[in-house]
Amino acid sequence: MSRVYNFSAGPAVLPEEVLKEVADEMLDYNGTGMSVMEMSHRSAAFQEIIDTAEKDLRDLMHIPDNYKVLFLQGGASQQFAMIPMNLMKNKVADYIVTGQWAKKAYQEAQKYGKANKIASSEDKTFSYIPDCSDLPVSPDADYVYICENNTIYGTKFKELPNTKGKTLVADVSSCFLSEPVDVSKYGIIYGGVQKNIGPAGMVIVIIREDLITEDVLPGTPTMLTYKTHADAGSLYNTPNAYCIYVCGKVFKWLKSMGGLEEMKRRNEEKAKILYDFLDSSSLFKGTVVPKDRSLMNVPFVTGDKEMDAKFVKEAAAAGLVNLKGHRSVGGMRASIYNAMPKAGVEALVAFMKKFEEENA
Ligand SMILES: *Cc1c(COP(=O)(O)O)cnc(C)c1O
Repeated sequence: MSRVYNFSAGPAVLPEEVLKEVADEMLDYNGTGMSVMEMSHRSAAFQEIIDTAEKDLRDLMHIPDNYKVLFLQGGASQQFAMIPMNLMKNKVADYIVTGQWAKKAYQEAQKYGKANKIASSEDKTFSYIPDCSDLPVSPDADYVYICENNTIYGTKFKELPNTKGKTLVADVSSCFLSEPVDVSKYGIIYGGVQKNIGPAGMVIVIIREDLITEDVLPGTPTMLTYKTHADAGSLYNTPNAYCIYVCGKVFKWLKSMGGLEEMKRRNEEKAKILYDFLDSSSLFKGTVVPKDRSLMNVPFVTGDKEMDAKFVKEAAAAGLVNLKGHRSVGGMRASIYNAMPKAGVEALVAFMKKFEEENA
């Protein structure tokens, strides 16, 4: 067996300890004589798995009691519709467009009401986060929407926008559990888990209870109503049970590592190794305004497409895989999520140095 360093943006690297544990439990989970994949979602064994996962997530994020945690299907993209369907009581929402994912959410919301783009960084290929301290927030906006970490462009909100009292909704898919957050500042925090938590096919929605109502837009399907899932403890229908189980293992792993303060320290340490190198390199350069740099997704270029392709190919041959940038931007991108060890980032930088010397 030989593991690579996987810099994929998602689905992405998972902690090796977790993969080994789930492998050990594949044929017989905790004396049940079956895999979690084969288990009824109505069984006591599964109820304990989902309850423990929720409790550990609540501990990690210090989620206040007036927030519900929902384990839903449809990925992060389904939330682009589910949010307006459930929250657009006035049929007005404000969007801050800092990348493709925020743009998709903004475009989807237009199907349900008046979605306003109150700020954008598209003028400079989404390479920065706009000043959001005094935006023209609509007086009747039902919420203000952000994508907190922009997976494709490698930017991150270091400060939340001033929503002028309106409910903040944030897509945190690619920075979920990467550092501590103050949940009480948000109405909804949600993220697809395949970036920084678990396998693909699930989204976790952390939602303030007053936003869970029966008063949704006409025609909203039962399955797309938050109340359906909140009332049923995420077991209205068969959930992505195996994914919930693996996420639960990752929550335990995060706790054993020292929680989100410690993950932040580690993530800052790892990102600094890569950014410091990019800032000193004569061949590679980062594409993001330094103050808005993400700790999770690090895009960089050589400025020459053929050189970029050569780098990606040779890196893969050296066991450093999935470094190709998103198809919409080109270049390279290293995603260095929680489960990427420091040794992986050091190996990448060592390889970049060698490549730079060979291609000077
Ligand atoms: C990957 C990603 C999505 C889309 O996730 P799906 O689960 O594939 O729908 C949405 N938002 C962000 C920030 C992402 O990184």
